Amino acid sequence: MLDIHRHWHFSGEGPVPCSPDTGSRAVIQLTPEQAKLAEDLPGQMFSVGLHPWDIPADSDAMRRQMAAVAQTARLPNVRLIGEAGLDSLKKDRMPEAAYDRQAAVLAQHADIAEKVRKPLLLHIVRRYGEVLQIYRMRRPTVPWIVHGFGRGPELMRQLTEAGLYVSFGAALLDRPQTAEAWAEADIRRVFLETDDRDVDIPDIYEAAARIRHTTVAELQRLIDLNFAGLYDM
Ligand SMILES: [Zn+2]
Repeated sequence: MLDIHRHWHFSGEGPVPCSPDTGSRAVIQLTPEQAKLAEDLPGQMFSVGLHPWDIPADSDAMRRQMAAVAQTARLPNVRLIGEAGLDSLKKDRMPEAAYDRQAAVLAQHADIAEKVRKPLLLHIVRRYGEVLQIYRMRRPTVPWIVHGFGRGPELMRQLTEAGLYVSFGAALLDRPQTAEAWAEADIRRVFLETDDRDVDIPDIYEAAARIRHTTVAELQRLIDLNFAGLYDM
C-alpha cells in the first residue's frame, strides 16, 4: 500500500513516524538538513526538498541547502524531488526575502528533477494559478505531483488536464468538496498520502475506495501502476 508522502518527527532520539507504522510502502519526506539519512537507510524511499516555509532569508544558507538537495537527489532511494512549491499561507510570518524566493527555489527543484529524471513533488497553497503557468511554460519532461490536495473538483480537473498528478490525503475524510474531487479524478493521475497527519494509510485507502465504489485491493493495484509509471519515461 503506497503512501506517497509521509513525514517523520525528528526528536533527540532520531526519527519517529507521524502516523502509526503499518509496514506500508511510504515515501518519507526529508529536509535538506536531514538529507544524509537517505544514505544511511538505503532500503527506505525518500523525497528531499526545501519546503517553501523553510526557505532561509540568508542566501548562502539557501545555496547550501539546495546543494544538499541536488547531491542527495541522485541516490537511488530518493524517489521524488521536493516538496517544493508556492505557498502564501505564512507570508506574514516569513521574512520577505525568503517569501520572494519561493518561485526561484521551485525552479531549482524543477531543474534538479529534470537532471536526475525523477518526479517533482509540489506543495501549493493558494498559488495554483502561478504553478500551472510555470508548468505550461517549462513543459517538464518528468511528472509533477501536487501533494496534499484539499480543494474541489474544478481545480483538480485543471491540474490533471494540464498533465499533473494529484495526491489526496486526510482532506478526503473531512472535506466534502475534496471527496467529490477524488470521486471524479482520473484514476491514472492520482496518489494517496498521510502527509504529517496522524492518520493510518489503510484508513485513507478505505475511505478512498468507499467513495469510488471500489475495493482497497483494486485501488492499491491502480496506484502501484501509477507509481511505476512515473519512472517509465
Ligand atoms: Zn508534507
